[in-house]
Amino acid sequence: MSARTISKTSLLVLLGPPGSGKSTLVASILGATPGLGHFAVRRQFVEEKRRQTDLWLAATESQEKGQWLPDEVVIEAFTRRLDAQLPGGMLVEGLPANAEQARLMLEVVKDRGRQVDRVLYLDAPDQVCMARMRKRSVCVTCDGGISQASVSEADPGRCARCGSVLGRRRDDQDEPFAERLRLHRHHIGGILDELCHDRATVLDGTADRAEIAQAAFRLLSQPRPARDL
Ligand SMILES: [Zn+2]
Repeated sequence: MSARTISKTSLLVLLGPPGSGKSTLVASILGATPGLGHFAVRRQFVEEKRRQTDLWLAATESQEKGQWLPDEVVIEAFTRRLDAQLPGGMLVEGLPANAEQARLMLEVVKDRGRQVDRVLYLDAPDQVCMARMRKRSVCVTCDGGISQASVSEADPGRCARCGSVLGRRRDDQDEPFAERLRLHRHHIGGILDELCHDRATVLDGTADRAEIAQAAFRLLSQPRPARDL
């Protein structure tokens, strides 16, 4: 790992198609940057459910109608998390998911006198993302089946932390996953336009995890955005 350090007051956005390796990179960055906050929509809504918040109720209502989480609900969850974290920084994973969320997010950030300091886009071809998805397993006991589990060396079917039997995320089946990929590709141009290209850098998600982490650290520890795009 590079000796460069990431400022724990930075506001960083990590985007990429599902299966591009975002969770793995997030774990590296957070592990090396104590005090940096983290926001990811799925993870946040597990927490909202646990606390039975108004946001969880709103999410349940849209789910019952078979709809996606409304942008306003997602952004409200982000806003509350950001306000709890400021003046510290935050690594925002997988948000915004469309151009409207990007616009709303920037408004919230600007209202607080802050800016998105940097956007990393971890990209990988669809077939690579799909192949990774088919292999990944999650632990429902440890984190509600949100991120990739640590697999036990002694028993690859079990979680290294708690010993539970590992499973797959409900939306990690070929069809729903392909739909998530398609949606991501559809929206990403509009998202990057809103966020401004000069803050975004593309990382090669097919590289090995140490290389990706090194590239990310090199970029995120620079004081000013490079114009790589
Ligand atoms: Zn576990």
